[in-house]
Amino acid sequence: MPLASAEGYVRQVLGWREYMWHLYWHFGSGYLRRNALRAHAPLPDWWTSLDADAVTAACLRSALEGVRDRGWTHHIPRLMLLGNHALQRGYQPRALSDWFREAFVDGFEWVMPTNVIGMSQHADGGMLATKPYAAGGAYINRMSDHCGHCVYDPKKRLGDDACPFTAGYWAWVHRHRELLAANNRRPGRWRRCGGSRTSTPCWTRSRGGRCSDGALPPVHRAHGTHFARRAGCRTARWLSHTGRAVAQRAVLAYLLGGG
Ligand code: SF4
Repeated sequence: MPLASAEGYVRQVLGWREYMWHLYWHFGSGYLRRNALRAHAPLPDWWTSLDADAVTAACLRSALEGVRDRGWTHHIPRLMLLGNHALQRGYQPRALSDWFREAFVDGFEWVMPTNVIGMSQHADGGMLATKPYAAGGAYINRMSDHCGHCVYDPKKRLGDDACPFTAGYWAWVHRHRELLAANNRRPGRWRRCGGSRTSTPCWTRSRGGRCSDGALPPVHRAHGTHFARRAGCRTARWLSHTGRAVAQRAVLAYLLGGG
């Protein structure tokens, strides 16, 4: 047996699967109510109805198509596309866990709460894992081949072709800067930031241009303001200088390293 296969079996089947099984019983039913990031946005209709054709983001459309057509996507699209999007948009964790349980062929009751509420949404405040799984377009571009045929640019946070994952990632970082600053694995640059509200672009427009992003404010790109300019904080100023690409990689490494 190849070493990689043996490693996968030991880590994913014997290791992670058992970890989830025991945590399900250990945490109990109250775990479903965990919502450390105070995420209350309802799942939008296009999401619950698996209307993948209405999604313009190529990566997310592909993941939703998988769920719609096969009731399944691989673990990584679940975590870094579906879960990452839900995290950035503040979808209600329990509703999201229920959706994963109902939409996936392997969505058993004992599997989803810990994987979704804990690992994917960090709604348990770190009971299961020490850091949130959030990422922008640069990570998705590096790890997949979706961006090459997407209408968005993974490097952009503003403008008509701003990548929703990139904009959403930085807005999420800003929104939860205090929690991130308190994380023991934080980079120093997140320690002080007294900024204001941020916005993310509306990115689930149908091809006709209509925003279909449910209860979230339909912040169209034309309304978007570079949140670094709005925030007026040290972190924000740091983000806006020419070295931000390097900084983004460092932050992504912090969030994703060791997963
Ligand atoms: S550009 Fe952004 S939205 Fe488009 S495929 Fe890449 S990561 Fe996804």
